[in-house]
Amino acid sequence: MNGRSLTELRRRHRGPVIAPDDVWYDTSRATFNSLIDRRPEVIVRPLDVDDVVSAVSFACEEGLPVAVRGGGHSVAGHCIGDGSLVVDLRLMREVVVDPEARTATCGGGSLWEDLDPPCQRHGLATPGGTFGDTGVGGLALGGGIGHLIGLHGLTLDNLVAATVVTADGSVASASERENADLLWALRGGGGNFGVVVDFTFRLHPVGRLLGGLLVYRLEDAPHVLTAWRELMAGAPDDLVCFAQIFRSSLTGQSGVNVSVASFDGIDEGREAIASFIRSAEPVMDGVRPMYYPELQEIFGRMQFGLRHYWSGRFLRELPDEAIELTAAQFAQPEVEGSVLFEPLHGAAGRVAADATAFAGREARYNATFTSAWTDPTKDERHVGWARGYTAELAPWTIGGGYLNYASEAVGESLETEFGVERLARLQAVKKRYDPGNAFRFNHNIAPA
Ligand SMILES: Cc1cc2nc3c(=O)[nH]c(=O)nc-3n(C[C@H](O)[C@H](O)[C@H](O)COP(=O)(O)OP(=O)(O)OC[C@H]3O[C@@H](n4cnc5c(N)ncnc54)[C@H](O)[C@@H]3O)c2cc1C
Repeated sequence: MNGRSLTELRRRHRGPVIAPDDVWYDTSRATFNSLIDRRPEVIVRPLDVDDVVSAVSFACEEGLPVAVRGGGHSVAGHCIGDGSLVVDLRLMREVVVDPEARTATCGGGSLWEDLDPPCQRHGLATPGGTFGDTGVGGLALGGGIGHLIGLHGLTLDNLVAATVVTADGSVASASERENADLLWALRGGGGNFGVVVDFTFRLHPVGRLLGGLLVYRLEDAPHVLTAWRELMAGAPDDLVCFAQIFRSSLTGQSGVNVSVASFDGIDEGREAIASFIRSAEPVMDGVRPMYYPELQEIFGRMQFGLRHYWSGRFLRELPDEAIELTAAQFAQPEVEGSVLFEPLHGAAGRVAADATAFAGREARYNATFTSAWTDPTKDERHVGWARGYTAELAPWTIGGGYLNYASEAVGESLETEFGVERLARLQAVKKRYDPGNAFRFNHNIAPA
């Protein structure tokens, strides 16, 4: 981009405009995953919808593709694109809660820790992810697996409206009444359709609950994972537990974590998990009464700047062989990383497969190998462990994997991920709102 164009962009755009020769360019293009090193033409940080319109219109005039940064947590690094204009939404994080209507509207760059506290002040919450510092935007557009999945579904099941700046710079409302095709596509199709400047979610009453983390020894993994599977197979909607086997040389720790979130009263929750807890002796039992904002912190934070490769598959079942395979991986002392098992439990599994664009509706579990390291000479090993593990899950997989976690999609096209019909429907919506594929830094849906 030449100097004259940059001057023109700076004239039109009131929020910061960051070019490659600015001292904060490198920190501004960094994402959660330091394996990603991309160089955009320019980064803008809009103050409001007018700024987003001016940035997208400018990109359109200059022929620049547009990347959108929400919370910057995409492991695939999709929020930054080589040669792009990046719309970095971090200054658009206002939250407005309507306790009467039980809705909350948040800016497109909001994090969960922006949205959850004002909702909880009214005793309300919408299903989110499990880390407060991840972005609402990417998470909601791709799925949203969290502690409230059993009672209220995925995050995207609770998305009732959005305002979107599309590729030609126009502003579109998406809801069941207006541009319903766009709302359908936003619920699972990722950031393919434009810049979402605000999201409106349905809220639900969430009071004091039983929550926390149980940690077991790695040697107990087969018992603990089997007992966890049995617990979740018979669990009511108001009990959600995730299981994760892990070994990390960064922390020097290994073991199995099982998170507990029970929304049916404290004593009832304790009763529901009592026999599971006795499946092995926990080395740490952090389960206690708490409110939702504390539940959203039980996994702590993962720092920006590590190298990451994540690979996963949706599973139709989790038989003993899959558990044995997982435990055997981590019985090898050199293997590092984690495998996270999430049940697609309760309400999330009851939404019709074609009601949203989310692809994993028929799956019972999501299994993801996550790997984090710092030494670039170990890239190949870590990527190899993640890919090798998920390839071995083949006998039990259904469709592709959870795209929000995926460093790469499964297969050459997105057909494995979405299936033929859903992908065709997404491509038709893409053609309507982004025929030139300006928004291509995502798991990219080619316009029909
Ligand atoms: C530490 C960690 C914990 C996680 N925990 C969970 C979890 O508990 N549950 C879960 O479901 N997922 C979880 N995820 C995955 C998470 O859903 C994705 O990483 C998601 O992409 C994060 O969204 P973001 O806005 O931070 O990402 P970004 O990197 O900013 O964006 C990701 C994609 O979404 C697009 N996008 C973001 N915001 C907008 C917007 N406003 N308009 C248009 N496009 C937009 C971007 O262009 C990009 O393509 C976790 C990820 C990490 C790294």
